[in-house]
Amino acid sequence: MPNPSLDSQFLHPDRHNRETLRQLGYAFVDLITDAVIDRQDRAFVKDESPFQIDIPNHGTASTDLLLELRSQILPRALNLQNPRYMGHMDSVPLAITIWADALTAALNNNMLSQELAPVFTQLEAQLVTWFGKLFGLGDRAFGTLTAGGSLANITAMLLARNAKQPTSQDLGVNSRTNHNLVAFVSDAAHTSFDKAMNVIGLGRENLIRVTTNDRGEIELEALESAVQQAIAQGKQPFFIAAIAGTTVTGAIDNIAAVGAIARQYDCWFHIDAAYGGAAIFSPQWKYLLNGCDAADSLTFNPQKWMWVSRTCAMLLVKQKQDLVNGFKMELPYMADNSLNFGNINLQGTRRTDSLKLWLALRSLGLNGYAELIDRSMAHAVAFRQWIDASQETELVCEPTINLVCFKSHNPAISSAALRQKWIDAEKLWLSLPLWKGDRILKAVILHPHATW
Ligand SMILES: *Cc1c(COP(=O)(O)O)cnc(C)c1O
Repeated sequence: MPNPSLDSQFLHPDRHNRETLRQLGYAFVDLITDAVIDRQDRAFVKDESPFQIDIPNHGTASTDLLLELRSQILPRALNLQNPRYMGHMDSVPLAITIWADALTAALNNNMLSQELAPVFTQLEAQLVTWFGKLFGLGDRAFGTLTAGGSLANITAMLLARNAKQPTSQDLGVNSRTNHNLVAFVSDAAHTSFDKAMNVIGLGRENLIRVTTNDRGEIELEALESAVQQAIAQGKQPFFIAAIAGTTVTGAIDNIAAVGAIARQYDCWFHIDAAYGGAAIFSPQWKYLLNGCDAADSLTFNPQKWMWVSRTCAMLLVKQKQDLVNGFKMELPYMADNSLNFGNINLQGTRRTDSLKLWLALRSLGLNGYAELIDRSMAHAVAFRQWIDASQETELVCEPTINLVCFKSHNPAISSAALRQKWIDAEKLWLSLPLWKGDRILKAVILHPHATW
């Protein structure tokens, strides 16, 4: 007797179960379209009760599993389709990227090497080259997709450490080789820089956090004096980052000025444009990213403001050789090491995230992206006017992009309580970040049909 649960998973050579496999696919298409995509008017989270797994010995029919997904899993998921959700940098994925992810899973190629992912190695190489040019990094630019912006930032710091101190790659950074390397980012920079200092062995205490103004932009004089002070203490500055779209307020540092300081003190210049980088697609707003051309490396997440399903992020470098030197790797089990992304990436086996990114770009075109970016900027202006007009709320700082930070203006209700009231009423789902010592309300207006 054939085991029915195996028979529904792999195509039999005689193809007798091909229609069964197709029906499973169709059932998922229906589930995703009806119970995920078509959920704009549904709760943010319908069911908050805990979910408990149960793994029996016998397999379960797909039809039953689909019912279980519909009744047990989907109601407990956060519903990003709701246009009143604007809590974090989470977007509704473009439909084509949802299905592209299924195709990617079906192909299951491995970005470790060219022989395991022939066309996708070309696709990824061409995409990172294209994005490098888009950000003005020039003809030698290259990069790699990564599973998120944190990993891209960690990789950037690793490259910077190895560029400044090439021996650290082989000898490590123990007391014999530690050259007192210190890095500089603003106090509004992402926590992944702390992680990176931990990972690359320099230690979090050697990440110097520079003060920001009330909007969250790095203070240039404070940066320069921090660098000088570190040098006076016998330390060696090796890395300075500018942030294009900070996680709390969406602020964009004065990129050109930070870059000039980095160059003056012979530091690697990184730009964390994980979120704000998408402004490059808008002829109206790309000026916000002026100065990117000076970067040694740049982090960008299409999974945020480009509406590509996650994960999809990248690290770009101005000089391809920096990426190669930063790893100095060859995979011994590959026939050809000419371009194996596994040699220039912290990840080994890696998913093909290029396919959905390429499809998203082809599907919307540059004009479509410009329109979507401009639309979310317009939404942010309207949202801000709503905050200004309300008696209940007041703006915390001037927004730069489509992130609006504000707080409760009513002494009888804290920002946290106002947030909960709005979530309970299904009015708005906002986040409650800590900002300069206060809990504030943050809206990231990404939904193309955002409403409030
Ligand atoms: C989101 C974000 C990151 C981290 O990216 P992940 O994909 O969450 O790892 C880093 N920096 C900035 C500025 C971000 O907005």
